[in-house]
Amino acid sequence: MKKEEIERAAQDLYDAKKTIAFTGAGISVESGIPDFRSSTGFWSRFNPEEYATIEAFRANPKKVWKMLKEMTSLLYQAQPNPAHYGLADLERLGKLQAIITQNVDGLHQAAGSRNVIEFHGSSATLSCLSCRRTVRSETLSLDDLPPTCPDCKSILKPDVVFFGEPIPFEAHRGAMEAARTCDLVLVVGTSVIVYPAAEIPITAKQNGAKVIEFNVEPTPLTADVSDYLIEGRSGDVIPRVVEALKTILGQ
Ligand code: ZN
Repeated sequence: MKKEEIERAAQDLYDAKKTIAFTGAGISVESGIPDFRSSTGFWSRFNPEEYATIEAFRANPKKVWKMLKEMTSLLYQAQPNPAHYGLADLERLGKLQAIITQNVDGLHQAAGSRNVIEFHGSSATLSCLSCRRTVRSETLSLDDLPPTCPDCKSILKPDVVFFGEPIPFEAHRGAMEAARTCDLVLVVGTSVIVYPAAEIPITAKQNGAKVIEFNVEPTPLTADVSDYLIEGRSGDVIPRVVEALKTILGQ
């Protein structure tokens, strides 16, 4: 990552009228949450067809909760890192209008971001598939997993999108609207190879937005969609861009 690239991104943020950030697993790795798809991630130990599809949960929720118990304890311990705080700073400066995240960890909100669209749902709540009762996860004890519905005693499911489930309607609508109307997208910590998430930067680009990519290495977006890539850990790079923007803003 070069100083000129940081200054270029800061100038693009300064010039943009509506900026959105599109974030993925890479932004939370520095918070101790491994990318589920990586060699050390969940899907290397838990076959997603057995543990992460809605059919698997319906067929055997107790088995799926073996994976969810580990995931839940990891998410409970995680804290935002400088990349999350940097994006929250941008929103406070009036230079970031929305974050669309594929993460379910709630770390953007924990860092202070307000307009967060959770494309793959959230681990902050759980729902009963039998009677639709919703429960906040902070009311649960990790010693008492799997949690059961206070009304009908069925096993609760976290409100994260399982394979085979649709993207929550409001999140999808809001994300596509933001993609169509922004003039700058910050892609942070995601290789966006998964549809429909991949639609977001592509739609923005087709509607004339500039795309700045922040990743540790080139991705499928780099050649065809991104205007430029700033390589590096997002926890190092994002705060530097925010500082450079503050200098332009005279703060
Ligand atoms: Zn119930």
